[in-house]
Amino acid sequence: MRHTMMRYELTLTSMFRRAAEHYSNTEIVSRKPDKSLDRRTFGDFDRRARQLASALRKAGCKKGDRVATLMWNHYAHLEAYFGIPIAGCVLHTLNLRLHPDEIAFIATHAEDRFVIVDDVLWPLFDKVRAKAKFDKVIVLRLTSAPLPAGTIDYEDFLNSGDASDPLPDLVEDDPMGLCYTSGTTGKPKGVCYSHRSIALHSLGASLSDTLGLSRRDTILPVVPMFHANAWGIPFAAIMIGAKMVMPGPHLDGESLLELFEKEKVTLAAGVPTIWLGILQALDKEPKRWSLTRDMRMVVGGSAAPESVIRGLDKHGLRVIHAWGMTETAPLGSVSHLAPHMDDWAEDDKYAHRAKQGIASPFVELRAVSDAGVVPRDGKSPGELEVRGAWVAGSYVPPSDENATKWTQDGWFKTGDVVTIDGGGCIKITDRTKDLIKSGGEWISSIDLENLIMGHPAVKEAAVVAVPHPKWDERPLAVVVLKDGAIASEADLRAFVAAKVAKFQVPDAFVFEATIPKTSAGKFLKSELREKYKAHKLG
Ligand code: ADP
Repeated sequence: MRHTMMRYELTLTSMFRRAAEHYSNTEIVSRKPDKSLDRRTFGDFDRRARQLASALRKAGCKKGDRVATLMWNHYAHLEAYFGIPIAGCVLHTLNLRLHPDEIAFIATHAEDRFVIVDDVLWPLFDKVRAKAKFDKVIVLRLTSAPLPAGTIDYEDFLNSGDASDPLPDLVEDDPMGLCYTSGTTGKPKGVCYSHRSIALHSLGASLSDTLGLSRRDTILPVVPMFHANAWGIPFAAIMIGAKMVMPGPHLDGESLLELFEKEKVTLAAGVPTIWLGILQALDKEPKRWSLTRDMRMVVGGSAAPESVIRGLDKHGLRVIHAWGMTETAPLGSVSHLAPHMDDWAEDDKYAHRAKQGIASPFVELRAVSDAGVVPRDGKSPGELEVRGAWVAGSYVPPSDENATKWTQDGWFKTGDVVTIDGGGCIKITDRTKDLIKSGGEWISSIDLENLIMGHPAVKEAAVVAVPHPKWDERPLAVVVLKDGAIASEADLRAFVAAKVAKFQVPDAFVFEATIPKTSAGKFLKSELREKYKAHKLG
């Protein structure tokens, strides 16, 4: 028998149309570079995104053409998030934290035709455009700086479009967006999403047992819109009609806390370093901000240390720990307590929440070692492989890695090392490149980092492998202490030794003022390995 259902295209256009119909009064608040607030509604967003779509088509942008953005999180970036794809074009979010040469490489690889740039990022863009060619440069003026020569004012560009122009008919397999991985472990690689993948991802990410997004939420994505679609949150928020608060360029703990309080934010999302900054500010002045009770913090991008989950809980803030990658749009798995865990001991509950959770619907996970798929026993390690409705099937060509990152049977090899327990919950122990091999045993750098970050004097800790004549490699911990806190190498060694097997205790603890980070706020371990490769171990 054949099914008797309609064919209905899963596109952003469908989500976009519905938002205007039902949520036109919902607010979009953006903090400008001078910290003043810009307030608009979904109704304004609808009109302006349609104008943008019309203006792009009038300016000659055709289906599949790439339109780049170099912008912070604010209303205009949201307009671009929808206005570009509903025109049939491909939204390419450029990462403003990369080196201008890297941005130029990526823009050239992607063959970006147009670009929309924040005026405050002009000094960076000026260096990019020396090396990459764009047909049109459109500048969003957030300050009173004059319009750079040879560019178009964003508002003038919008006004060249007509909001009443019909939107083109698209099919769900049309491309809509393009993100390059930030290159923590190699050359940037591009992933081109389809309308279908992002429409399904928006549904998947909103479920109660994933990120649990609702129209009643006020959502603040701290995660930049140039990182893995800001974890899909802007798309999902428009789909469900949640108020959006966009933080602009000020992302320090105090500036964020001010905004959480003022706009009564109920859910925010960002990498662990952001929450570390917030936790420190709250620990210092616990009474200063009055936040929404049980505000949720989605944490991903790197492992959420258990100490941070516990610390934020004390302030009434609930961490939702999620795992994902640019290649998975990005949501892969989310950690929640299952009903049968309700009567578990507190320590066990925290340990569970610090794991990366179970696969979301339409995503499948498995761990594979040289011996094949590893058993789900919670202790056998393997490389995490993933497939699903919003998982990339290849990189944008040309890419050397298209031949190596997918298995014969169609799974994507993540480069993450995990164990999977009987309930299907994954625990990331490392990235393959960061594992420490000591005397034939693997040592998890993430486990050690999380343990050391649980010491009351420690702000941040990164653990890397240092070559060793006898053991092959040994762990070295690079530690940043909290302001004014004191701890010696012996203190930290004793703290760690009380909790792990002797061979796992780092051979050295070195103190630094900061740990170098990638553009996505992750520890830049390649730099630390290089710096400490000749360090004398005790
Ligand atoms: P990059 O490869 O440049 O870091 P991505 O932003 O795509 O770019 O990062 C994906 C990687 O981030 C994952 O493969 C994993 O190593 C790490 N990651 C993401 N979420 C988590 C998490 N919750 N815990 C541990 N690692 C995570």
